[in-house]
Amino acid sequence: MKIINEMTISFKALSVNEAFARSLVAAFCVQVNPTLDEITDIKTAVSEAVTNSVVHAYPKGCGDVTINVKLYENKALITVSDTGVGITNMEKAREPFFTTKPDEERSGMGFTVMETFMDEVELSKNGSHGVKIQMLKNFGEVKRKIVGE
Ligand code: ATP
Ligand code: MG
Repeated sequence: MKIINEMTISFKALSVNEAFARSLVAAFCVQVNPTLDEITDIKTAVSEAVTNSVVHAYPKGCGDVTINVKLYENKALITVSDTGVGITNMEKAREPFFTTKPDEERSGMGFTVMETFMDEVELSKNGSHGVKIQMLKNFGEVKRKIVGE
């Protein structure tokens, strides 16, 4: 399917940038007319992914977070990546309630939230180190269902 529009942004892995990042991605997606619920889902998932890079990726110092959004007529492919310490056991990391920071009031639900609100979530290494999360959101599924009935 044809990409209608695409954008990439990079910013420091600081918690002050979490709200900025989710609003920016939401604003970019608006041009393909998603529903309010779909936009809210995207904001929630982006927020979790960026928060993970902020909290876990750079225990020493502060690196960058990069977001790429590819927009199609009826879906968005959102990639959030960092060049931090990476995840050794990706399968384990995705399990509900798994966290390596239980003492910091983390609940280990970030990946579960992303999976709940997006249609597909893929976790992989970003090059030699770091984390890459690709999330797909299909737009208009509810609308199509109603029309198809
Ligand atoms: P919560 O999201 O509920 O606050 P959490 O961040 O620990 O808690 P998840 O988001 O599900 O839970 O992530 C699970 C675990 O995966 C983390 O505890 C961390 O060890 C690891 N992890 C997630 N993202 C990254 C990342 N970008 N870099 C390094 N480790 C990560
Ligand atoms: Mg998290």
